[in-house]
Amino acid sequence: MIFERSAVAKAAYGLSASARIIHEFDVYNALRALQGRSIPTLFGLYRSEENGSGLVLVTSYEGRALPSFDDLGVQDRHTLLSRLIRIHQAGVEHLDVEPRNVVFSKSRGPIIVDFDGASLDHCCGGLSCGELREVARRLGIDLGQLITAAGDF
Ligand SMILES: [Zn+2]
Repeated sequence: MIFERSAVAKAAYGLSASARIIHEFDVYNALRALQGRSIPTLFGLYRSEENGSGLVLVTSYEGRALPSFDDLGVQDRHTLLSRLIRIHQAGVEHLDVEPRNVVFSKSRGPIIVDFDGASLDHCCGGLSCGELREVARRLGIDLGQLITAAGDF
């Protein structure tokens, strides 16, 4: 059996870009339990053959970036915020939740990507968490209702 899998390769050259991509690799590893569900699957971090200092982070391709949150229906908005809550519960704050960092998978709905600026030591305050509150506001969703459903805060 042949598996057909699409991948996304993100290349970094130079010290600061490499540091960011290594950080993103660490975030993906911290979120291993959410890979393939709330976030793409990490395939690996590779050294580029073309440039000795280059690094390439390879993840599954899940879909195109959203032009705007306005394009999401109510159910997809709930799915997106629920996924962000799970990411926060795992100790990661994304810090750049914008439509360009959310791709739309035909089978799985909205998937959060681009963790190179994320914080790895997030202690989520749930209802008082700034990022969750802001994203909920932008999506027009009642955060309290979703957090009650997610539990464990
Ligand atoms: Zn939080």
